[in-house]
Amino acid sequence: MRESAGMPPKDRHLSRRGARTSRTVVTLRNGASFGGETVVLCAGPCSVESEEQIEATAAGVAASGAAVLRGGAFKPRTSPYAFQGLGRKGLEWLRNAADRHRLAVVTEVLDPRHVEMVAEYADMLQIGARNMQNFALLREAGLARKPVLLKRGFAATVDEWLMAAEYVLVEGNPHVVLCERGVRSFDSATRNLLDLAVVPLLAELTHLPVIVDPSHGTGLARLVEPMSLAAIAAGADGLLVEVHPEPAGAASDGAQSLTLEQFASLASRLSDVAAAAGRRAGTARLAV
Ligand code: PEP
Ligand code: MN
Repeated sequence: MRESAGMPPKDRHLSRRGARTSRTVVTLRNGASFGGETVVLCAGPCSVESEEQIEATAAGVAASGAAVLRGGAFKPRTSPYAFQGLGRKGLEWLRNAADRHRLAVVTEVLDPRHVEMVAEYADMLQIGARNMQNFALLREAGLARKPVLLKRGFAATVDEWLMAAEYVLVEGNPHVVLCERGVRSFDSATRNLLDLAVVPLLAELTHLPVIVDPSHGTGLARLVEPMSLAAIAAGADGLLVEVHPEPAGAASDGAQSLTLEQFASLASRLSDVAAAAGRRAGTARLAV
């Protein structure tokens, strides 16, 4: 197929470094800023399961310095028989728990028809690895008035990932944060192969902030802390970490979820690494 005559060369694409003189900073309603001096901690369960579960998680991660509460209400499960998420009820519980602890909300949207509804509750729309090239969803998120967290597809090249971001940007939404979450490899010793080399590479290629998800990136709770420290040392603007009050009983991804205590320990160990990388860890005083 011929490319259209009006197509800009790649180095002029909106996601590319040359498109802007400064780096993009994406700020959420509570003041959490991706791409600023402070490393942003996003934490919470894989899935919202109950009001008690999300409240306990929100209280715990906020006390440890997280600024953003994560939790899926629409889950992209490999099997249609696995837990699919609680839908709107889950979004309500997530929003209320976040508000009680001055946290912002990031949550996944699976379906272009749900973008408006999810945006009513979320401060940031997560587009998951499996949907990185769902172009209808990317365009709809581009039309939404909410920042977008765009995960890397598990078999996506860096070019394909930046092109996916381009779909959101070209629709007029400049607030995109990229999230490395590991790619599929030949080795099942870890769930995915966490590609930390993309962090400094993306700093050359794009002005967009980049965060790292060491939970899906490794699949193993005990590897989450060391890979979090490594991600910040490599220059990541934040982390997305799965945390559950009782990982053994989690409806999804329990094996890679930290307890509240483990997350507190990770957050406290992060300060030194962040300082060494010229950043600060933890919450700058948040509004709202
Ligand atoms: C998630 O964040 O729970 C999730 C499903 O992530 P990913 O899209 O990276 O697999
Ligand atoms: Mn998960």
